[in-house]
Amino acid sequence: MLHLTLNGLAAAVYRYFSYPVLEQGWQVYSEGRIIEYTAEGALVQAYVEDDSPDWEHPNRVELNLEDLRYSTCDCHSDGYCEHMAAVVFEWCDRADYDPSKLLKSGTSALGGAGGGTPVRESSSGGEDSSWASILDSLTTARSLLPREEPSTDPEAPVQGSGPASWYKYFRSRVHPNRFSSLASASALYDKVLGELLPIAAGWEKTAAQLYELHVILFVMKLTEEIQGSHFRQQYDFSYYQRMEVYRDLASRCWDHLTGLLKEIHRTEARERYDSLLQETEEVLHSHAQPASGTVVPWMQTYTALWWDLLWSEAGAAREKARLQKVSEEEELPASRAEWLMHAQLLFAMRGGTDEEAMELAGRMGHAAPAKVLPYLEVMARTRAWERLRAWLQWLVPWMTRVPGGQLGSYFDLWEQVRGARGLDQEWRDAVFALLPRSLDYYTEELMSTGRYREWVDIHLVLGYTPMDFRASELKPIESEHRELLLPWYHHSVELFIAEKNRDAYKRAVRLLKKLQSHYKKLKRTEVWDRYLAYLTTRYSRLRALQQEMEKLRKGGDAS
Ligand SMILES: [Zn+2]
Repeated sequence: MLHLTLNGLAAAVYRYFSYPVLEQGWQVYSEGRIIEYTAEGALVQAYVEDDSPDWEHPNRVELNLEDLRYSTCDCHSDGYCEHMAAVVFEWCDRADYDPSKLLKSGTSALGGAGGGTPVRESSSGGEDSSWASILDSLTTARSLLPREEPSTDPEAPVQGSGPASWYKYFRSRVHPNRFSSLASASALYDKVLGELLPIAAGWEKTAAQLYELHVILFVMKLTEEIQGSHFRQQYDFSYYQRMEVYRDLASRCWDHLTGLLKEIHRTEARERYDSLLQETEEVLHSHAQPASGTVVPWMQTYTALWWDLLWSEAGAAREKARLQKVSEEEELPASRAEWLMHAQLLFAMRGGTDEEAMELAGRMGHAAPAKVLPYLEVMARTRAWERLRAWLQWLVPWMTRVPGGQLGSYFDLWEQVRGARGLDQEWRDAVFALLPRSLDYYTEELMSTGRYREWVDIHLVLGYTPMDFRASELKPIESEHRELLLPWYHHSVELFIAEKNRDAYKRAVRLLKKLQSHYKKLKRTEVWDRYLAYLTTRYSRLRALQQEMEKLRKGGDAS
């Protein structure tokens, strides 16, 4: 069993490592470059990625925590290197000691003295004059003791306090660097929630839920910060593994948040905790402005909170004023400019000022349908048919190049408006404007309402042949208005013949067989005979076609 106190370790660390090396080690640790880690008692083994250009393989570190002098690293440096220091920090983290405290206590204890020590110098002569005082301050440093119960902390949130003070407390308890290694990052959600949620255990229900909401927002922010610190690194082989961890964190937060929002009693929150909600507006406003490339779904989060819990006329006015301020900033980064536009769209949609919303959406170009459609789904659910109709008509020019899935949602919404309000002409205008992409929606309608002539005409015009359809699809027309199909067959036969190759001729003949049977069933075989004679004369020079047609004559009736 390992008999190691943190104070003992800290003393040894400051005895053997120079402060600049510790700082470098901190950098290595916080970039998550420790890729393999195993500990058995006082013996820790790990591999540490290097970021130098002549990097060949990870450095293998073996630490002996009981006596650091027996520790090794296979990098080029001799003595106590940053790789070893990084593994010390990793050990602290895993032992549930805050490793940043180890570094910080060094800063305060050493003052400026440590800064002058040359980098990578082995501190064999470490027993300098300041040693005794360092040891004293380390030994008495409260910060190095294992964390105390949150309830004894004087700054711990109490019922009646608000988000501004909560976040000060959160920040004092949880430093992002604690979660910068890959293994610790994946534990962030559980660790932070496990540490911060019990604080509100005895609170009134709604107050506790609002507190919980902020803990989640805090974890989201942490996730973004940790991801951001890794983004500055080179892309390496653990990049995708890391992204996976961050995405998982973000989606756990999102799931937690949506579950929580369903539970919170909105009226109760408004009546009893209005000032808390107002503070929430401000926290959300600053949190939700995303760093570029963040995995955290800030816009969804922002929308989810504003749509219901935070929404009020006064609240909306306050937030719109904040957004206005952001829009007046110079050189807004692209990710924030985009966020701003979406936020403004949200308020225009939620407030029902559709003209303003259309103006905003119009500035989003090809992204407009994707941003607008979710709001239209809400309009359909709340039966705001007039608004929905106006939006569907507005969207027509934007729908020409959207992915098929969006076109599907678009016509589903039209179906709902038609079901509720009729509006056949408006619907048809939209469909025509979006042909040929809307063809399926249009022809389905024609078929189901028995408008077979229009059905055939539009396929004929667009160059489809009967061979593009399954027999069952044409069945209704065949049984009710077979004659409507004849011009389409004739036209298609000519199309195939015009291709002038054997394959196309074979297809033409297959159509001819079918056409022959149509004429027969319509008892108009004399027309068929004349047509066949015409084809034979007209294309007498097309030898291959004539050969294929010979089979037709021999085969007789195809049906
Ligand atoms: Zn090393």
